[in-house]
Amino acid sequence: MSENALEQHEIDYRARQLRLGTWIGVAVILIGAVRALLDRHGGPWLVALMVLAAAGQAVLVALPWERYMTRDGRWLSRVMIAWWGANLALLLAFTAYDVAALAIYPAGVTLILASTAALAGDREVIGFGVASVAGYLGLVVTRDRPAAGTLAALTVALMLGVTWFCARTASNRRRLDAGRHTAERKIEALLENASDAVLAVHPSGEVTYASPSVRTALGYDPAIMTSELLMDITHPDYLATSMEWWTAVVNGGRGYTARAETRVRRAEGAWIWVEVIATNRFDEEPLNAAVISIRDITTRKELEEELTRQAFADSLTGMPNRALFRDRLEHAIARNRRGGGRITLLLVDLDDFKLVNDSLGHTAGDQLIAATALRLHQQLRASDTLARLGGDEFAVLVEDITEIEAMDLGDRLLAAIRRPLRLGNREVVCSASIGVATAKAGDGDDGPDPGELLRNADLAMYAAKGAGRDRFALFDPAMYAGVLREAEERAEVERALARDEFLVHYQPIVDLPTSRLIGVEALVRWEHPVRGLLGPNAFIPLAESTGLIVPLGRWVLRQACEQLARWRDEFPAAAGIRVNVNLSARQFQHEGLVEEVAGILAETGVDPRQIVLEITESLLMQDTDSTIETLGRLKALGVRLAIDDFGTGYSSLSYLKRFPVDILKIDRSFVDGITTERGDATLAEAVVQLGRALQLQTVAEGIETAEQWSTLQSLGCEFGQGYLFARPGAAEAISSILGDARP
Ligand code: C2E
Ligand code: CA
Ligand code: CA
Repeated sequence: MSENALEQHEIDYRARQLRLGTWIGVAVILIGAVRALLDRHGGPWLVALMVLAAAGQAVLVALPWERYMTRDGRWLSRVMIAWWGANLALLLAFTAYDVAALAIYPAGVTLILASTAALAGDREVIGFGVASVAGYLGLVVTRDRPAAGTLAALTVALMLGVTWFCARTASNRRRLDAGRHTAERKIEALLENASDAVLAVHPSGEVTYASPSVRTALGYDPAIMTSELLMDITHPDYLATSMEWWTAVVNGGRGYTARAETRVRRAEGAWIWVEVIATNRFDEEPLNAAVISIRDITTRKELEEELTRQAFADSLTGMPNRALFRDRLEHAIARNRRGGGRITLLLVDLDDFKLVNDSLGHTAGDQLIAATALRLHQQLRASDTLARLGGDEFAVLVEDITEIEAMDLGDRLLAAIRRPLRLGNREVVCSASIGVATAKAGDGDDGPDPGELLRNADLAMYAAKGAGRDRFALFDPAMYAGVLREAEERAEVERALARDEFLVHYQPIVDLPTSRLIGVEALVRWEHPVRGLLGPNAFIPLAESTGLIVPLGRWVLRQACEQLARWRDEFPAAAGIRVNVNLSARQFQHEGLVEEVAGILAETGVDPRQIVLEITESLLMQDTDSTIETLGRLKALGVRLAIDDFGTGYSSLSYLKRFPVDILKIDRSFVDGITTERGDATLAEAVVQLGRALQLQTVAEGIETAEQWSTLQSLGCEFGQGYLFARPGAAEAISSILGDARP
């Protein structure tokens, strides 16, 4: 039963009592009137007055009592007593009148005394019980006087009625009291079993109530709860906020509610997180306190913390992620701005991680990352921060070390990564490139910008990669110039494409025993308006990284095909030659490659069998399934495929068998040392034999001396290419060879 329902019940009950009291008054007056008529006491005016009084009383019954009642019923109770009193007084007056008229003193006096006593003691039941007995006595005494007997009988009947009514009233009250008691018990039980501890605290800090649930929620005996104890068990870190919260509640005014989260110590010593909610009820009687509920939110807090941790941690290594690293970096910068210290940032990026990931699978890739993280971690102090920024990129934040120490750390990190690593049943050797950037307090007004520091380290890292990997580079402002230059160069390549500044040179590929021309390799050149004729090494890497290689490569293929078509039309010998065109990895990944090649072949009308597409060995190691699919679709067009720079990658026999290639081009590095170093001759021989075993043609690249030529021949290599036969040159040079050749 709610508090409100309880009040409503009380009001209804009292209003009902009032109305009943009024009816009794009406009845008493009417009885008196009848008595006056029967005994002919008094005149007609008395009877008229009585009837009028009865009517007046009856009207009062209809009054909306409920409306005048205060919620606590106190006002009502006063009205009630007055009303009852008035009616009783009326009753007594009539009785007194009868008594005086009939001279039955003992009964009347007893009746008056009992009623008055009962009224004073608010014990209606007893009072009217006694009154009834007195009335009965009166009946006995006046047995021989019919008029007095009638009066006594009526009085007894009336008293019995009143007694019955009062008994009912009393039982009603008892029921109400019982109801209220149960409700209180219920609330008590609720507070006891609730997980929230509930306190009432005066503005002075005095705890006026502590619910039984204090014991379950905090472990303390509710009886000993004081504000001193509350402060004592609050975590020192949260004392200030707790005090602020309490001040806010005290000053907040009536009904003001404030919430806070804090840490408290349970009785047995464990620290828990609690939420405290206080409502200012200082002005509300009879509480005059703030109601504070204290709830244990440790589980929720822990969950929140775990979620935050996850949001800021890398799932693979459990280390801080980019967001958290950024945060730590900002804090370090802020700290050093005051302390004047120095911050060093090392950006570590694995070399060729993609290769491992693609060839050995993602599980191996993940293992490599985790192992790298561990190795880096072992080289650091506890105060250093290591984070995984994503992919194979790590960042290390170190405070207060000199440049020499930073370089030393860089060396140690590189050495740690270089150690061979077992991935499954394979042994892998990895390396990394590290960019180092430092910032001192006083660099700029607010200290260095974290974003700038990261960018600097990134630039240095790229510089380390560019300088040959497996090394570190210290950031140098000149690196910005490099970046700017790169951007300019990219724009330049774009312009060059638009202005047709590229051209294609052709280098003959010959049959080694006869040195007869069997084909050409198309090699792109750039006729730079200022720098003159540039080789591919000057712009291909840039074109690759910017994606411009896709339109450039397409252009080279078209040029080569158109050239072949012209030769074919001009020289009968051209029908037997082939044209090799280089495809870069980036072109290979380009979605529309196969369709583009097919389109160019169709438009230029060349025989696809005369076209050889050269792809590098490292390209084959990437993403094997889709690579095999693309190679198959290219083969289906009728073109042939060659593996360029063969021997520099890691391809194994079993690996090669899976790819539909026709030609192996032995890398120049093998040819270079073939006559001087014993090892390379064996390697070259092995490569030639591998080609034979796989029934592939072999082309040796970079033949510069006659000795190399004869050695390769003796090893069984069929074809060759190199300065010894011809340097790459304009199409006209090939035209004259073709023209000289006998059909
Ligand atoms: P590559 O495919 O290995 O091409 C052979 C390179 O070796 C050419 O260099 C060629 O001039 C050079 N060469 C040939 N014979 C000898 C020799 O006897 N001694 C020496 N030292 N070098 C010799 P180039 O023209 O500078 O091309 C370099 C690389 O650029 C090529 O290596 C190829 O990977 C790439 N490239 C050239 N043209 C294209 C193209 O159109 N598209 C793509 N994607 N790459 C191209
Ligand atoms: Ca090539
Ligand atoms: Ca090559």
